Amino acid sequence: MPAEIVILGGGVGGALTANLLAKKLPAGSARIRVVDATGQHLYQPGFLYIALDQANAGWLSRDLRSLLPENVEIIIDKVAKIDTSSRKVNLELGGALNYDYLVIATGSRPNYEGVSGLKEGAYSFYSLTEAERLREALRTFKGGTLVIGVAGMPYKCPPAPVEFAFLVEEYLRKKGVRDKTTIKFLSPLNRAFTIESASALVAPMFAKRGIELNTFVNIDTVDPSNHEVHTLEDEVYSYDLAVLVPPHSGADALLTSGITDSAGWLPTDPKTLRVEEQEDVFAIGDATNLPISKSGSTAHFEAPVIVEQIAAAVEGRVPHPKRSRYGGKVTCFLETGNHQATILVFDYDNPPKPPRPSVVWHGAKWGFNRAYWFTVPKGRGV
Ligand SMILES: Cc1cc2nc3c(=O)[nH]c(=O)nc-3n(C[C@H](O)[C@H](O)[C@H](O)COP(=O)(O)OP(=O)(O)OC[C@H]3O[C@@H](n4cnc5c(N)ncnc54)[C@H](O)[C@@H]3O)c2cc1C
Repeated sequence: MPAEIVILGGGVGGALTANLLAKKLPAGSARIRVVDATGQHLYQPGFLYIALDQANAGWLSRDLRSLLPENVEIIIDKVAKIDTSSRKVNLELGGALNYDYLVIATGSRPNYEGVSGLKEGAYSFYSLTEAERLREALRTFKGGTLVIGVAGMPYKCPPAPVEFAFLVEEYLRKKGVRDKTTIKFLSPLNRAFTIESASALVAPMFAKRGIELNTFVNIDTVDPSNHEVHTLEDEVYSYDLAVLVPPHSGADALLTSGITDSAGWLPTDPKTLRVEEQEDVFAIGDATNLPISKSGSTAHFEAPVIVEQIAAAVEGRVPHPKRSRYGGKVTCFLETGNHQATILVFDYDNPPKPPRPSVVWHGAKWGFNRAYWFTVPKGRGV
């Protein structure tokens, strides 16, 4: 009997895992099924460029079918419940899938209800619709106070709000309204974002570009009628335009299935990526509780580790000792505006040492953006 492998989510982690398994497993040894709520795969880093009028939406979305080989089945449905004791996944439209191996790749989603007034009072670039809404607001922005901030941790792509600050500063300069605009960046930490060495690089650059960095700012509520951000520290930031990263949540079905921690993230072994206390269940990408960036790059480096363990089990062999362990590797670019970027390469033991921003890294980022559909989700170059 072929092994039943079920992958929940067809985003970065899910599509990549399915492709790698299909390539690695001997023909006929497994049946691979991917369940996805929409059947569309989104390139989320592109939301930033949509908001800043540098790209259009057509580039960001592909039919999941076009990214997976024919021998991978796709089920377009929402996961309703996971029952790990009977190794079964219930779907919202009905029906249930039995599994021998389960990979949970349901990602994270912005939770606009997580902060009172956020949805009505602020913009964001954390979904395609929101990025398009922000693009329209920026097109008509005539200057004033622009507040950029993080309204809850953790959130995906920790450098993204910093990148937005640099890029919007440049955008407003080119539009001729920079001298009429005050830019305030609100961070809940004692620095610009989670990664210390990169924040140290960013702080003087913010100062040079006139972006005011406000630290230890924990956003409590947004008052849409008075255009104010209120903080837990009892401070008030007035704004003409607010761009806030919403708090994030995992998929509801995971929380209600009782397999997450209280915040909704899957307790995951940092090396094997197995969900703790569950047999043959793996977690990848944003859905985990791992203390590293929720980023596509994380999922990219995690996928081969899960694939090696499942393939070894299906083939009845011992997993490769190194290829079956994740060391926390993440590689991501950080755009700093003016056609420059830097790169952050790190793992569990080694923090990044970002090089001085240059046109080279900006070019590399755009090369990656253009190559994405031919590489990452298809498992090429992994
Ligand atoms: C503005 C922005 C910029 C970013 N920039 C970068 C960057 O430069 N570099 C980088 O590495 N990362 C970046 N990211 C982060 C990156 O996009 C995510 O971390 C990555 O997509 C996570 O992969 P994933 O597979 O865990 O989840 P996702 O890619 O989000 O996929 C999750 C999938 O699960 C499906 N799903 C969810 N719930 C259910 C359910 N109940 N039933 C069935 N299916 C379900 C969804 O439909 C989706 O297809 C950025 C993100 C944003 C928003």
